[in-house]
Amino acid sequence: MATIRIDTEQVTPAKVEGDSQNVFRASKFVLMKPKWQSDESASACGLCKSKFNQIRRRHHCRTCGRVLCAKCCSNKVPVPQFQMDSLERVCNGCMPVVTCVTMSHSEEQEFLCRAVSSLEIICRDNPASVLALGGAQTLVYLARKMSGCQMKTLGQITTCLHTLCLHSGVLLWYSEIGFIDALTHILQISSSVQDQSGMISEALDTLRIFSKTSDSLKRKAVQCGCIAPLLHLGQSDNPFISLVSMTTLGLIAECSATHNAILSQKNALRDLLSRVNSSKDDKDVEIVLRMIMLMSAGNQETKHRIVCEDSSVGSAISQVIKKWPSHPQILANAACAIANLATSCDDQVTLQNSVIVLLQALSQNLPGYVSIHCIRALANFAKYELHANALLSNFPIIMQLLNSSYGPLINSHALRCIFNVLQQRAVDASKAIERCGSQELILRLAERESVMRDLLASMDRDAPSIATE
Ligand SMILES: [Zn+2]
Ligand SMILES: [Zn+2]
Repeated sequence: MATIRIDTEQVTPAKVEGDSQNVFRASKFVLMKPKWQSDESASACGLCKSKFNQIRRRHHCRTCGRVLCAKCCSNKVPVPQFQMDSLERVCNGCMPVVTCVTMSHSEEQEFLCRAVSSLEIICRDNPASVLALGGAQTLVYLARKMSGCQMKTLGQITTCLHTLCLHSGVLLWYSEIGFIDALTHILQISSSVQDQSGMISEALDTLRIFSKTSDSLKRKAVQCGCIAPLLHLGQSDNPFISLVSMTTLGLIAECSATHNAILSQKNALRDLLSRVNSSKDDKDVEIVLRMIMLMSAGNQETKHRIVCEDSSVGSAISQVIKKWPSHPQILANAACAIANLATSCDDQVTLQNSVIVLLQALSQNLPGYVSIHCIRALANFAKYELHANALLSNFPIIMQLLNSSYGPLINSHALRCIFNVLQQRAVDASKAIERCGSQELILRLAERESVMRDLLASMDRDAPSIATE
């Protein structure tokens, strides 16, 4: 069986019988019995290390399978987790977790609460035994069983999950047995009950840990239905809860496969854009705008949806460029989103005002990583005649970027912008180029080896060898 590493320990995690390892929706879970260590391989007790002899006999612990002496393995415990009715021998090492797992199979509420209280301490002090003996499955299983009137126990379960998730190498396994389902469930229940900010914060932070780890865990979070509670909690009056919700959603949105799920939530896009429009908190605007920027790189349909919704809330994306002039990361996120949206051919009229905003922004002294998105956006817009007047009347701003010291990419987008305008309005553009000094333009063009090669190749095709009459 595959082992996983938790801190310095190598652990064989408990497995459940049946096809699915996820116990969140299970009505009961049955653990697979451990493989017994062979008698011959053990000359001494696995716990106290006393040598076996005629008097000190060997005994197997039914839950870990190790060979131990009678002193270390004298507990007799019911183990419904193995579907056994009899009392079975369990060693002192296994006892704390096994007792909890056993109690979790009871119908008595009191036993369930006691199981969780004990697990809270063991998760902190001995996480390896929690993983090896079914304690992790017990937590997931009990999270589902708790309703809105058992908030104290649900809060303790949340703390257990959070504590276990601080061991990052185990996250994938946690997700397979149902941790993310449990967290989503906890968020759904706790956000409908008053005064649960502690539990909500802890559950959110645990979900954040999953969401930052890998694309497959981001997708898993979406499959478990966490988008709706995250959007809902994003509206919380508690600034911490609101920020962690949005941060987590932002991490999930880094995987483009999640975008449809986010956009298909009712009013999600409108809420996000309104937030960009109205939030007074720069960190908040930056995070939400980044999410929109990530989604703006999607297909034409997604771009169109964003543009329509954005115009309905008052062009929030380009307005932030005016509102937050001294926050370069906000400017960069907004300009990047506009640059992506600018390739949507059906939305050029709606986006017209963004061209002016970008030109104004470029006339300020922007950092290179902001300018690059602004000029990329303008180069994309310049394909459309609709924007030619605005671009021509601000031509010096674009021409000056040909000479930018920020690097060849900015120069290249500026060049692309100029040539797009030239294609739309040859005479006006050529006059504008002449006024601004055409030498830079020709120099930058000459530097683009591949462009020059293609240009000359197409000209060469037009000049076949001919004989005069
Ligand atoms: Zn012993
Ligand atoms: Zn044991």
